[in-house]
Amino acid sequence: MKKVLLGNEAIARGAFEAGCTVVASYPGTPSTEITESVARDFPDIKSQWSPNEKVAFEVAAGASVAGARSMTCMKHVGLNVAADPLFTFSYTGVNGGLVIINADDPGAWSSQNEQDNRHYARAAKVPMLEPSDPQEAKDFTRAAFELSEKYDRPVIVRTTTRISHSQGIVELADPEQYQIKPFVRNPKKFVMIPAHARPRHIVIEELMLKLRDASATLPFNRIEWGSTKRGIITAGASYNYVKETCPDDSILKIGLMWPLPDELIRQFAQKVEELIIVEELDPFIEKYVRMMGIKCKGKELIPLCGELTPDIVDAALNGNAHENRIPPYAGKIPARPPALCKGCPHIAVFSVLKKLDLNVNGDIGCYTLGVLPPYSAMHSQGCMGASIGMHLGFEKANPALARNSVAVIGDSTFIHSGITPLIDLVYNKGTGTVLILDNRITSMTGHQENPSTGVTLRGEPTYELNLEALCRACGVDRVTVIDPNNIEEFEKVVKEEVAAEAPSVIIARRKCILKK
Ligand code: SF4
Repeated sequence: MKKVLLGNEAIARGAFEAGCTVVASYPGTPSTEITESVARDFPDIKSQWSPNEKVAFEVAAGASVAGARSMTCMKHVGLNVAADPLFTFSYTGVNGGLVIINADDPGAWSSQNEQDNRHYARAAKVPMLEPSDPQEAKDFTRAAFELSEKYDRPVIVRTTTRISHSQGIVELADPEQYQIKPFVRNPKKFVMIPAHARPRHIVIEELMLKLRDASATLPFNRIEWGSTKRGIITAGASYNYVKETCPDDSILKIGLMWPLPDELIRQFAQKVEELIIVEELDPFIEKYVRMMGIKCKGKELIPLCGELTPDIVDAALNGNAHENRIPPYAGKIPARPPALCKGCPHIAVFSVLKKLDLNVNGDIGCYTLGVLPPYSAMHSQGCMGASIGMHLGFEKANPALARNSVAVIGDSTFIHSGITPLIDLVYNKGTGTVLILDNRITSMTGHQENPSTGVTLRGEPTYELNLEALCRACGVDRVTVIDPNNIEEFEKVVKEEVAAEAPSVIIARRKCILKK
């Protein structure tokens, strides 16, 4: 049977067909729909939102050690949060297959950076698969579980925004009747004290070499012969642009991104007169090919930054000026920058912060739009949970500056990684004010539940985390809960708390208007 599926839905289907039992994730564009699709379409898979990507990874790793096939899904910066377990569970290996879906965002359409997570596969010594369309997204995800068990490695499946969010026809297959493996106590494999880690390091190096040697014959990589005047090595979304704009050239399509297939690369390079690497973001394949002593062209033709398009590839490889294809209305329509929704609860918050002319250490969420006019009321922002630690840094560096500053963080982001910096702020005698913008949902990624909403991913009622009690337990005595739309009272509370010589938390609680 065939079905039109989003790349992300195809990944969910691949996990289902592989007999995956547990999926734990944290939402993040462009990966969010994978876990939502699992929860909606495959109720037999135990699926959940975790408080952050590290916890999600560890839940999936626990399920793997217990013998089940398991998966965790996150965006590229989420893997930074989960990097700690990634590197150590690479050493332990798996029992049931363990698959990590990592969605990169070339072009930074909805992210704070364009980091290229192919480097994680090399650094953590784990295999990485990279599909080029929804069919491959499903097939590669399914195959990743087998690869994981066969080579005793967690396996990363890397997508990009264009693959995650494109639709295509997908041939479905029957699900495998996977039997959960028994859990066998094996501390030498699963407890990474130094005496166990050292020999495991040798084991995983050997496993990766074995996989590299097998990579020429694995079905993920293929050569499509055309004219041997020019050969192009490419992968992921870029493969589609090369097919469209260079139909006569020979192509080596990489599906197993790590370890790269030395043998196949050599065979291909020997037969073509000119070798070009077409890849988005970093020269990951290009540097590898050059390290092998093979001459090639890459980033001198293909942009290092931003997402590729067929026009960019056509211009770079065929000299066809892609400016010719820019539509006549381009540049004539006024730009429409993103904005907080009409009636958004954050509007009152940023209006007051602007009026009081406070320095605002911001965080990741809809409320980051407080940086833009008409509010222009955010002055630093880094990664999930950074606002509170940065606010303490302000105080340590310049107490007078800190007296005129606040930290702003959303409810979901606070749970994700704001609790530990709040503990730090109290422990290290900070006196700053933290505003938790509690809109009762994880809005920016499309309204996902979180531990403070009292509802699970699957819509079941559960324990509702009490943010005010949690802040008090962290040692903050001055905790105020207020509706920010009660604007005069809200302004008074902000003034009082900023002036107080003690740590304080203001929970600005009002539902996201779209959720309401
Ligand atoms: S989705 Fe909700 S929280 Fe986000 S900008 Fe719109 S109203 Fe505000």
